[in-house]
Amino acid sequence: MHLTARLIAGLFFGSIAIPAHAQTVAHAAVGDTAAVRTLVGRLDLERYKATIKGLTQFGDRRQGTDRNRAAVDWIEAQLKSYGCTNTARITYDYQPPTPQGGGAGGQRPRNPTTVGAGGSRLRGNIVRRGVNNDSLAQPDARLRALNAQPSVPGQRQQVYCTKVGTTRPDEMYIVGGHMDGIGWGEAANDDGSGTAIVMELARIFSSPDVQTERSIRFVLWNNEETGLNGARAYIAQRQALQGQEQPAGSRQYPEPRWLGMIQHDMMMFDHGMPRADGTMNPEQRPEADVNIEFQGNSKMATGSQQLAWFFATANELFATDYPAAVGQHMTNTDSAPFQDIVPAISLRENERGAQIGAGWSPHWHRPTDLYSTYGDNDFRLGLNAAQTTLGAIGQLAGATLRR
Ligand SMILES: [Zn+2]
Repeated sequence: MHLTARLIAGLFFGSIAIPAHAQTVAHAAVGDTAAVRTLVGRLDLERYKATIKGLTQFGDRRQGTDRNRAAVDWIEAQLKSYGCTNTARITYDYQPPTPQGGGAGGQRPRNPTTVGAGGSRLRGNIVRRGVNNDSLAQPDARLRALNAQPSVPGQRQQVYCTKVGTTRPDEMYIVGGHMDGIGWGEAANDDGSGTAIVMELARIFSSPDVQTERSIRFVLWNNEETGLNGARAYIAQRQALQGQEQPAGSRQYPEPRWLGMIQHDMMMFDHGMPRADGTMNPEQRPEADVNIEFQGNSKMATGSQQLAWFFATANELFATDYPAAVGQHMTNTDSAPFQDIVPAISLRENERGAQIGAGWSPHWHRPTDLYSTYGDNDFRLGLNAAQTTLGAIGQLAGATLRR
């Protein structure tokens, strides 16, 4: 019964009134397709890999540690070096929730294992995967030492930079990934792979010969792994500032009006469903895809769905190797706090609920989430996601090249 109710809730989402601006996605494509194609061609597999490698020098980048703060500093320095010079930071406080007491006696029995996160339904072979919190599970002594400092509650920061639009500087798309990780590895896939996409796009859009009509903000969220706290802090501090011109008459908008939020989280590993014995295909499956998800049970479902299909079409136009698939169960990522405010989607290697939730990503939050774990066919899936987002945002923001 419970399952049926959830499925029905996930299937019907068309009856909610949507503000007019949320309907503009399909009409906003004004970019020069040839120019966008040139920009997509500036993405490079070796360069993408090098950015992921750079992030892994800070280990698992767990929030509330020196290695996390050093990673924020490094990301900011990279953004500036790309020409995305107007970097800024959001400062907030993070206090972890006090652990809940109580034993299993008060818990309801779990439904059959086919109920997944976000309204999804699990199919086939299901493997439960947990978070590694054991330092000794990391066999590499260097990484054990690098990841040894524990998280301390208190002040946090996250960095962003902005490509300012020429004719519509008061409107922007938000392109995000989370730079923090967990698990005593290098957080190479979760979420070095998504962070590197955001950084590579910041680099390409910041090239002096590129201009866009609308603004684009590149945000590297912190505290995703503790409950999307960085994204929530951003919304709490900046939602009310949207569209304000400061100072009046300056044509400067510290917080342009949000047109959409696009998150990138775990972008590389699509080796398929676990086998019946729980092992995985060691190779990327040739039919790997980029999963574009929106949340059907959200206020902005109509606009988010339009945005998702726009990205799927951009994938067909611009991605070199792997196709995209659209799903309606976006969950557990930094676009979720935005989903009732603006059109919001996420890009992933697998669907978060039905696939990652069923064990399709064996290195997720594990000591094996290392740069050296992945091969070029894995990295190339991330690059195809970058091509997809660059192609879509290039059109939506109205990118052109100066001659
Ligand atoms: Zn993640």
